[in-house]
Amino acid sequence: MPASDTPASDTTAVAPVDTASVRPLDGVLFDVDDTVVDTAGAFAEAVAAVRRAFLPDVPVEREPEMLAIWRSDVGGRYRAYTRGELGYDEQRRLRADELHAAFGGPRVDEASYPVWLEVFWGAFERAWRAFDDVAGVLKRLADAGVAVGVVTNASVELQTSKLATAQIEGLPVLVGVDTLGYGKPRPEVFWEGCRLLGTDPARTAYVGDEPDIDARAAADAGLLGVWLERPGVRFDARGGGLHAGRPGFVPGSRVSRITTLDTLLDTLGL
Ligand SMILES: [Mg+2]
Repeated sequence: MPASDTPASDTTAVAPVDTASVRPLDGVLFDVDDTVVDTAGAFAEAVAAVRRAFLPDVPVEREPEMLAIWRSDVGGRYRAYTRGELGYDEQRRLRADELHAAFGGPRVDEASYPVWLEVFWGAFERAWRAFDDVAGVLKRLADAGVAVGVVTNASVELQTSKLATAQIEGLPVLVGVDTLGYGKPRPEVFWEGCRLLGTDPARTAYVGDEPDIDARAAADAGLLGVWLERPGVRFDARGGGLHAGRPGFVPGSRVSRITTLDTLLDTLGL
């Protein structure tokens, strides 16, 4: 007999659906920068403020070039920080000094760094904004009963403040680079995120804008990797992410690619 012919009163004919058992995933972990917060846009504002304050002879047209140098981390300072080899302020001062050196500006030494930082950081944090698709995807995941959290390569305190400023709610920062003393792509940071989320890595997705240290690394740690390649913020088109320099990188198997968070639930089969 077709299911549609089953009498409504026959309660033994259809077992109640256990949504948790049929759901393909229990948790989704997110990266922050350029995934839920437009950090590239905020860096552009910060670099523009630095040019106006310290490099007034550099024409405004060169701001994208300045941003590219800042973001590409030419000296590998941020990477050294994520390996636990440099302090956060130290890596940033060294990058500031390298940026000024590239454009003929004054040295950024330990004495002048506080003033530089005030200009840079003030403009940067005033520009923290969520992407338009964030609130919607978090609501749909909550409605689907999927746990969410953040695993990030910046500090927990900074990212918590950033999410609050960007008015992103319901997305706790679970693991920062300061949690274990190192960051992605180490698998332990993804496992710690799953542990704090209360989910099995095999039933957890990780969503981030960088194909290698986010999606590929998460997949290698046993999660489902999701590479968010937003149009206009390609991996290296705006001067690169902090870890750019690998054009043509292919994220490989067990990694999905999306271009907007609007399609995340469909991609994950939720
Ligand atoms: Mg990112």
